[in-house]
Amino acid sequence: MTVKKAMVKKGAGTGTKGKVKSPKCRTCGKRIRVPKGWSGGPAVRRHYWREHRSVMQPEKGAGR
Ligand SMILES: [Zn+2]
Repeated sequence: MTVKKAMVKKGAGTGTKGKVKSPKCRTCGKRIRVPKGWSGGPAVRRHYWREHRSVMQPEKGAGR
């Protein structure tokens, strides 16, 4: 069988394994948008800093 794959459409097909373009937040379950040129990691981190700062920053001086 000859499969013609001249141009693979981006984002075509479901269940594409490999690069995950839109990671999910573990805390709120929201999809995190990954800016162009970014990888998932930093994007998730940015989301956390913006939405769940308390998660990134363990209570500082909030002891009492
Ligand atoms: Zn979140």
